[in-house]
Amino acid sequence: MPPTWDLRSDTATTPSPAMLAAMVSAPVGDDVLGEDPTVNELEHMVANLCGHESALFCVSSTMANQLAIRTHLCNPPESMLCHWDSHIFKYESGGTSLHSQAQMIPIKSSPNLSVQDIKDHFITGSFLGHCAPTHLVALENTMSGVVMPIADIRDIGQFTRSMGALVHMDGSRLWNAAADKKELREYATLVDSLSLCLSKGMGCPVGALLVGTRQFIDKARHFRKAFGGGWRQAGILAAAGIYAINHIWPTMPATHALAKRLAQGLGQCGYSLALPVHTNMVMIDTAKSPSVSTTELSQALKPKGVILGAVYEGSHLRIVLHHQIDDECVDMILATVNKLHLAASEPAK
Ligand SMILES: *Cc1c(COP(=O)(O)O)cnc(C)c1O
Repeated sequence: MPPTWDLRSDTATTPSPAMLAAMVSAPVGDDVLGEDPTVNELEHMVANLCGHESALFCVSSTMANQLAIRTHLCNPPESMLCHWDSHIFKYESGGTSLHSQAQMIPIKSSPNLSVQDIKDHFITGSFLGHCAPTHLVALENTMSGVVMPIADIRDIGQFTRSMGALVHMDGSRLWNAAADKKELREYATLVDSLSLCLSKGMGCPVGALLVGTRQFIDKARHFRKAFGGGWRQAGILAAAGIYAINHIWPTMPATHALAKRLAQGLGQCGYSLALPVHTNMVMIDTAKSPSVSTTELSQALKPKGVILGAVYEGSHLRIVLHHQIDDECVDMILATVNKLHLAASEPAK
């Protein structure tokens, strides 16, 4: 059997033997009672890295985002601004309406939100009871692999706070945006709360963190229990997170370099990118594909153990790299692409 390289998503990672060993040997206790030493260590570690007071270990980033929204928005009618393509708007099962009774106001903007977008859509008053005032702005970083500029986040934060509202960042892939580590705190301290995912590029089987003030996290912990998300000896899972921060996060610059090499090679064969490659995602614009379509490419790679994703929204093929994608895989893709293109450009006999 050939090795399998799954490039559909960075959720395709599996725990490495070293990660599993760290999980097996973790000291544990009852986290509902606050007595799991490994969970406490992970929460302190991440709060410190982010320059915030407190953190809460959750089962998923969806849960961390939804807890944040529920904790910030406690007095309906309220509204939240977010990006049209954001995970919070599109892929959290309508959770904001369900849990927080808040109106989501999605904004189309490419690739990410600007302070002007926020100003244009901000709802300041109830207008004789007709409107749900904006109390929260949700950002996403990275968004489709694209890093949000620190200056934009700062501007949005300043404006939003001047209007008496708060900023939450879905930083599921903020690890990638801050791959050289220095910038994590800089991003994190510009927002009131943020989520960080452990089960994407960080390679853990489960987990995410919600980060913010002590008061905010205490309240979110209360809601986590109410949603059935209290867990007991969760240190086994937290140990994977600690391992990932120490050992997998530092591999992200290499993963990003590999993504750039793949994008360059595809570019040389005529493929156009829908978005720039800042981190671990290569977005191919399928409408501008050359003679060999991305569908043909996916089919040719399948028997070689390389799995590419489906075409998203009819317009782009998303290729996602992570620490278990290596040079051999990228070489294999580029060799296949080159061969297909040579065959396609030969005159018919
Ligand atoms: C995957 C993802 C989430 C949700 O993460 P889960 O841990 O799968 O719930 C949230 N936001 C973004 C940007 C994501 O990519």
